[in-house]
Amino acid sequence: MRTDKIIRFFVGAFVVGSLLGLMGGLLFGGPSTANTAARGDAESAEPAPEPAAAQPMTPEKAQAIGANELGTIMVLEYHKIGSPSTEWTRTPEDFRADLALLWDEGYYPINLRDLATGNIEVPAGKTPVVLTFDDSSPGQYRLLEDGTIDPDCAVGVMQAATRAGRWASRATFFVLLDVRPADHLLFGQPDSQSEKLRNLVSWGYEVGSHTVTHLNLKEASQEESVKQLAVSKATIEKIVGSGYSVDTMSVPFGAYPKDDSILAAGTHEDLSYRYLAAVEVTGGSSSSPYSTEFAPLHIPRIVVDGGSLRAAVQRFKDNPKLRYVSDGDPSAVSFPEGVPDELGAALADLGRPIITY
Ligand SMILES: [Zn+2]
Repeated sequence: MRTDKIIRFFVGAFVVGSLLGLMGGLLFGGPSTANTAARGDAESAEPAPEPAAAQPMTPEKAQAIGANELGTIMVLEYHKIGSPSTEWTRTPEDFRADLALLWDEGYYPINLRDLATGNIEVPAGKTPVVLTFDDSSPGQYRLLEDGTIDPDCAVGVMQAATRAGRWASRATFFVLLDVRPADHLLFGQPDSQSEKLRNLVSWGYEVGSHTVTHLNLKEASQEESVKQLAVSKATIEKIVGSGYSVDTMSVPFGAYPKDDSILAAGTHEDLSYRYLAAVEVTGGSSSSPYSTEFAPLHIPRIVVDGGSLRAAVQRFKDNPKLRYVSDGDPSAVSFPEGVPDELGAALADLGRPIITY
């Protein structure tokens, strides 16, 4: 395997990133590795999901819980976190309120990978929700000069809610590796990029690909598209280390390539890749991964701006049969008989018991 090439890319990207960071006056004193590790431990506290039921799931239990694991799941889309509020900028105050609303309404965060694989571990009666962040802008994850996390960046808000027992550290960050402005290159603080990716993963978050340069896959050549899909995955995996696997990606601009199959798998020189899931820019709630309607390479999202999240939450209240409700047991798939047609039917090859009531 020609790892020399990956390393060259990796080093090149970071030399460029560092230089641009210096030029932009963005150089912050990085904390020592020991401090980083200590902070990582302190930040990892979160309420553990309820243990899976010791007894097998039954129709009676599923009914008592109101489980509907063929229901739809919201995949929320965030871009910048900061002020003032614009179409693509959510203020920290609004983001805090989003988490509080979701928690109070019975939602529980999971990563996109967990949606794609159907490995949905949330407590019984809860509804999974996926928070996604595109473009790795600074307000998503910013360190202050003393090395602590800015309490007003997205990670700061989520970690605080998690420590308060009102959230869990799950979300998917689709990051960029070579872009202008350079402050969108892995959250913009050149000295801390590696530390941030490793911390995110160690705390339970997911890091996915948004291509290397925010490439328009509809307009780019297939060769360039495959190259960026391969290199972005390999580069992130190398930074995170410890056998981390990048499994999901966000399609820049929602501009899909003519041949979607290059998202699922491909090979560039000596780099092979495969993605389990790709997300769109719009489209509403996602079908359940257990449903015949689930399209893993075209997972729709809900852009969070203005009152769009509150409206989406209200839609589930108005149409409760469309909402995914967990039975709390990842080893079984439970749903009521006679679900609405738009939820589809259970896939035949789920490899786990189906419980209906
Ligand atoms: Zn983007």
